[in-house]
Parts: sequence; C-alpha cells; structure tokens
Amino acid sequence: MALTLVLHCTHCRDERDFQQPPCVDGHGLDCPEVACVECGSAVMVSWSEVVHEAEGSVDLATAV
Ligand SMILES: [Zn+2]
Ligand SMILES: [Zn+2]
Repeated sequence: MALTLVLHCTHCRDERDFQQPPCVDGHGLDCPEVACVECGSAVMVSWSEVVHEAEGSVDLATAV
C-alpha cells in the first residue's frame, strides 16, 4: 500500500508528498519512517497523530 502524506519538508523548505519506503526492518505498516518524494529526506511520523488526516479509510490504528 502506498500511503502518501503531505508534510513540511525541512530540506525542501516547502510542503511535499511523503511516502513510506519499503521497510527493511519488518515494521510493515507500522514503520514510522516516510521519505520525501522530491529529495528523499526521511522523517519519523507518529501514525496515531496523522491517521485522522489521511485520505480514505486507512485502518492503521488497529494495525499494531
Ligand atoms: Zn521500518
Ligand atoms: Zn524534500
């Protein structure tokens, strides 16, 4: 699943789309790392805080 978030990228200094890269640590959908699609900067997010802003019915809250 490609979940896209719009966050402020400190590298681009603007709003950018962020997507979850393939997780190599086995976190799956719980992986807190997303990367800017423009510059690749990775940021950690708190899914419990952003899930209510995600479009559609993303059932991350129960995916623990
Ligand atoms: Zn991960
Ligand atoms: Zn960026």
